[in-house]
Amino acid sequence: MNSSKNKVMVLDVGGTNIRVAAIMTDGTIVSRYKCPTNAAKGPEKVIKGLVKAIKTTISRAKLHDGDIKGICLSIAGSVDNINGIVNSSPHLPGWQDVPLREIIEDALELKTEILNDASAAALGEHRFGAGRDIKNMVHITIGTGIGGGIIINNELYLGANGIAGEFGHMSVVANGLKCSCGNKGCWELYASGSAIEREARRIVKSEAESYILTLAEGNIDGITGRTVARAADLKDRSAVKIIENTAYYFGVGLAGIINIFNPEIIVVGGGLSSLGEKLLRPARKVVKERAFSLPTRTVKIVRSQLKDNAGLLGAAVYMYDS
Ligand SMILES: [Zn+2]
Repeated sequence: MNSSKNKVMVLDVGGTNIRVAAIMTDGTIVSRYKCPTNAAKGPEKVIKGLVKAIKTTISRAKLHDGDIKGICLSIAGSVDNINGIVNSSPHLPGWQDVPLREIIEDALELKTEILNDASAAALGEHRFGAGRDIKNMVHITIGTGIGGGIIINNELYLGANGIAGEFGHMSVVANGLKCSCGNKGCWELYASGSAIEREARRIVKSEAESYILTLAEGNIDGITGRTVARAADLKDRSAVKIIENTAYYFGVGLAGIINIFNPEIIVVGGGLSSLGEKLLRPARKVVKERAFSLPTRTVKIVRSQLKDNAGLLGAAVYMYDS
């Protein structure tokens, strides 16, 4: 029997799906499994699902306990990695101060860690992706909201409680829109997929004809960031403007981050990063106008290389390094 503990089990606990993988030290993914989170059913049911998903992945990959160094779960939201507690998660209704690390450790008798998903993505990109061999890096996950992860001197920076990197909730408009976090004018309300959707839905209501609405088959609620991106590709003027505006605010936030961290690289991942240069080129222009010139000349703002695997690989790195 192989008892070298050369694999870790990692989970990405999303609002819709739980993704599980068994990963080796060099980042090779040896097995994958996916099942629904059933988030609406509350913490107890979700946790049962997590345990079952881990057991299923272990048995499908024909692993033995002796092969597995431990488990790391990556979760969106306020995740206290020090005490192993999920304080809250935007994707998981009813989760308040859930001692997830202890529950999983007791259920599976394997060492367990938990980590914010955006921090996990930063670790993954740093070890295996666009941030390899780079000492100081910021990773931005831009999707429905905005998450962040910080690498300082080759190490993940999590702050006193594991919360560091919540860039999405820094104000870019002092008295702007009210955010669910309690703050006003948060970055993610102006520079995320939700911002694009909100603006598009507002604008199409006053337009006689709109590519955006046509692409959403006439259903305003069906408009997504992708719909707007496709309409922008077709040169729909409103769609182009919405993307430009989003990129502008994205750049405003990046300028602050560059002044604070002076990173060698900012890696941009998450669903909206698929906009590519449509998002990054105008954002770099805003950075050039606003941030200090030396860090602006130094920093490279690039897209994620690992895409959907960044968080899983980062969770593996976190477990191997723990
Ligand atoms: Zn906020």
